[in-house]
Amino acid sequence: MSDTRFVFFTGGVSSSLGKGLTASSLGRLLKCRGLRVTIVKLDPYINVDPGTMNPFEHGEVFVTEDGGETDLDLGHYERFIDENLHRDSNATTGSIYQAVIAKERRGDYLGRTVQVIPHVTDEIKERIRRLATDDVDVVIVEVGGTVGDIEIVPFLEALRQFRRDVGRDNVCYVHLTLVPYLAPSGEQKTKPTQHSVTELRSRGIQPDVIVCRSDQPISAGLKRKVSLLCDVPVEAVISAVDAPSIYELPLVLHEEGLDDVVCRTLRLDLQARQLDLSGWERVTDLVAQAVRPVTVGVVGKYVNLPDAYLSVVESLRHAGFHHGARASIEWIQAEQVPDLLAADRLSHLDAMVIPGGFGERGVEGKIAAASFARRHDVPCLGLCLGLQVMVVEAARNMAGLAGAHSREFDSCTPHPVIDLMDDQHEVVDLGGTMRLGSYVAQLLPGSRVAQAYGTEVVSERHRHRYEVNPRYRGRLEAAGLVCSGTSPDGRLVEFVELPHHPFYVGTQAHPEFKSRPDRPHPLFRDLLAAAVARAEGRLPHLIDLDADA
Ligand code: GLN
Repeated sequence: MSDTRFVFFTGGVSSSLGKGLTASSLGRLLKCRGLRVTIVKLDPYINVDPGTMNPFEHGEVFVTEDGGETDLDLGHYERFIDENLHRDSNATTGSIYQAVIAKERRGDYLGRTVQVIPHVTDEIKERIRRLATDDVDVVIVEVGGTVGDIEIVPFLEALRQFRRDVGRDNVCYVHLTLVPYLAPSGEQKTKPTQHSVTELRSRGIQPDVIVCRSDQPISAGLKRKVSLLCDVPVEAVISAVDAPSIYELPLVLHEEGLDDVVCRTLRLDLQARQLDLSGWERVTDLVAQAVRPVTVGVVGKYVNLPDAYLSVVESLRHAGFHHGARASIEWIQAEQVPDLLAADRLSHLDAMVIPGGFGERGVEGKIAAASFARRHDVPCLGLCLGLQVMVVEAARNMAGLAGAHSREFDSCTPHPVIDLMDDQHEVVDLGGTMRLGSYVAQLLPGSRVAQAYGTEVVSERHRHRYEVNPRYRGRLEAAGLVCSGTSPDGRLVEFVELPHHPFYVGTQAHPEFKSRPDRPHPLFRDLLAAAVARAEGRLPHLIDLDADA
């Protein structure tokens, strides 16, 4: 702990400035200097974790190896710093109060009055300190929300105290703000930055570095102005201009000197820390060379907020990089699938993904999409609910089980091919009652999934309650759906696939959480291979929809 350094990211002016990506990029740059890095996100909202939050509002719930349901920024962190994080890598006000109140109930505070300062702030500091293990050189801490929010105050107070606790040189405060361009006056404006830094200072924190987000580069003159007014050295004013791809951000920020100024603030000897950017430059080369066009339809319920499928989109991109292909995503509202099919507006797709989801709305549309992909050789990957939908479709249309459904959506179905397992109790608390985190699966030798993974034992992250009903497995397999992966005891179906199809694979897991820009996930990689082949006319294309009728 004594050698560990801490970088605190706060944001001002507006949300959605890309604080998570900036923190991730710095993490990557520090890793390129040979430093061992971890990142934590502190979220000031009251939910204990984002697991119960609506994806429409909050975007995807990112699942860690150990089953933490966390903020989607953790996905950026993992993809950029290429480290697996854990449930402790995300803490919310709710989880912090829960811990403090549990201590109070146990009598740990010996009858004292429990207060925001010091008890809540101590708990926040403890969450940060816990991550400073012997194998970590730098802990990057991103605080969600913006300075000026009511609920962020205890976090800023904890961050302020932290520098006193661990020593000046062990802490670097980075503040991210927006420098808007005002068209009528033709100028970039620094006033919002000044106000936001004033707000931060009123909490006792003087930033060491100010990262200015803008659509145009910040001029030297403007940097001097920010430097003067906000009292940071001019080289600590970093211009973070919009980049064409998020994967270019680390290089953009390096050009601006972000990692240099952070290392200098932290007295990390730069000479001894030779920078090797070659690994990341390979990633940006891959991005630049990804030109072969492929169109992938993502059939979902939350398509109006693409952040709800963030890791799926990034996985498709990574897979595209591998094949030199640029995956453009077509968002398909599941409920509209029957109409789109009737109007022949899906046959141009080179591939389809049916991602995870909860709730009945749009499920019939997803089943129709799976049916279309199966019958017309459209490469298709089903993720979690996507697998369940493929199973229901196969039950109804291959095995002849009329009315087959998942018990989640039809409690009276004559054929509950997807169901809760016998040992699952009635759910009373919606938090954390799912099968969460990494589970091992045994793959069928020679199957498409075994070929894709190149091994027969795999581990993937899960987040679901329902399973393929073992009572129906025989009938599904007799009808031609191959259960190509199961839990090691053979009880739970983990993968399904169709032989004689260019690519039709479902997984009960969420492989999208493990894809990295330079290491695409094997299932996405092979989906995209089939998509590219279809796009380039090497697979049979659907010409006539009616031929299937
Ligand atoms: N709703 C389904 C279940 O609970 C699928 C969940 C998911 O797609 N993540 O099993």
